[in-house]
Amino acid sequence: MSQAPGAFLLDVEGTTTPIDFVYRVLFPYARDRFHDFLARSGGDGEVASEVRGLSEEHRRDVAAGLQPPAWEDTPEGITAYAHWLMDRDRKTTALKALQGRIWEIGFTARELQASVYDDVVRALARWQAAARPAAIYSSGSVRAQQLLFAHTQAGDLTPRLSAYFDTTSGFKTEADSYRRIAEAMGLATGTILFVSDVGAELDAALAAGLQTALCSRSDTLPLAGTHRLITSFDQLP
Ligand SMILES: [Mg+2]
Repeated sequence: MSQAPGAFLLDVEGTTTPIDFVYRVLFPYARDRFHDFLARSGGDGEVASEVRGLSEEHRRDVAAGLQPPAWEDTPEGITAYAHWLMDRDRKTTALKALQGRIWEIGFTARELQASVYDDVVRALARWQAAARPAAIYSSGSVRAQQLLFAHTQAGDLTPRLSAYFDTTSGFKTEADSYRRIAEAMGLATGTILFVSDVGAELDAALAAGLQTALCSRSDTLPLAGTHRLITSFDQLP
C-alpha cells in the first residue's frame, strides 16, 4: 500500500452486512407486506406516483414481450406485478422506492433490525476517534442505507458515517463513479481505501486511483489477486 488511507469507502452487501440479511430478511419483509401497504397507503400522493411508475414499467415489459401478470389497478393486481418484478430481482426506481417505504415502517417499528458485522462496528469507532471519515457506496438507495445503519444490533451507527453514495453517482463497476465520489468527499482518490467483496467493483476503484481491499466473508478464500485480501475489518488500520 502506497500510503496509509485517510478515509474509507465501504460496500454494504457482503462487506459490512451479511448477504443473507438482505436476501433472507429485507426482501421477504417487503414482499410479504406489499399488499397491505398498498391497501393502506396506495392513495397517498407520492405512493400513487410510484405506482404510476410501476404501471409504466409494466407497459414497457408488455411491449418487450415479457408477459408479466396483467395490469390491474388494485392492491392485489399491483402486488402480483411487484412480486413478478421481485422474482426477477428488478431494481428499478419505483420498486426500490416502494420497498424502501415498507422497510422504513419496519425499522421504525423495530420489527426490522439491521445486521452489521462486529468488526465493522469496531472499525467505525476506531476511524471516528482518529478523525478518518468513512462513507458508504451501495446500489441500495441512500435512504435505505441510512435506515439500515440507523437501526443495527449495535445501535445507531450514522454518527460514525460521513456520507452515503448510491447509483446516482454511477455504477459500481465504472471508474468514473469513484472519481465523482472522491470529489464529493473532497479527497484525492489515492487517500481513500475502498472495501468490497466484488472484484469488478475493486478493479474500477483501482483504475480511478483508489486503494482497494477485497473483503471475504466466506469460508473458502479467493485466490490471491490484484487486491489486498482481508477477512475482517480488524485487519485494517
Ligand atoms: Mg457487495
